[in-house]
Amino acid sequence: MTDTDKRPAGAAELRRAVLDHFAQKLDKYLPESGDAGPWKLGEMELALLDDMNEVACGVIEARIGADPNRIVEKPKCPKCGLALGGVKRNAATHKQTLFGPIRYSRTYGTCQACGLAFSPSGEVFRLRQGLL
Ligand SMILES: [Zn+2]
Repeated sequence: MTDTDKRPAGAAELRRAVLDHFAQKLDKYLPESGDAGPWKLGEMELALLDDMNEVACGVIEARIGADPNRIVEKPKCPKCGLALGGVKRNAATHKQTLFGPIRYSRTYGTCQACGLAFSPSGEVFRLRQGLL
């Protein structure tokens, strides 16, 4: 777990990285030039399943990374508005998704009144309902 002043990457930069990653995967099946290799349909289906799941995880991670509320200086409780205590900024975490595991970082803290831990970015992104 890290706790640094690292700022979120820009959405354009993250989008470019996702597109580059997708283009690398696409080259295996449909290169701009040259031979695409001797793919059999069943083999291509299985390879595409893995590759597209990997690309989908990258899209989710990029979407989270582009969220300006992912890392905030003074997060507040979404229920009562009080400043969260014990705040960790840029804390690394992971989640299991339909496409596979994703890794990202975010701010989180605990509300003294509610006694619950909140991630401000989780409230905005709604990757999963509830607490992140
Ligand atoms: Zn609260």
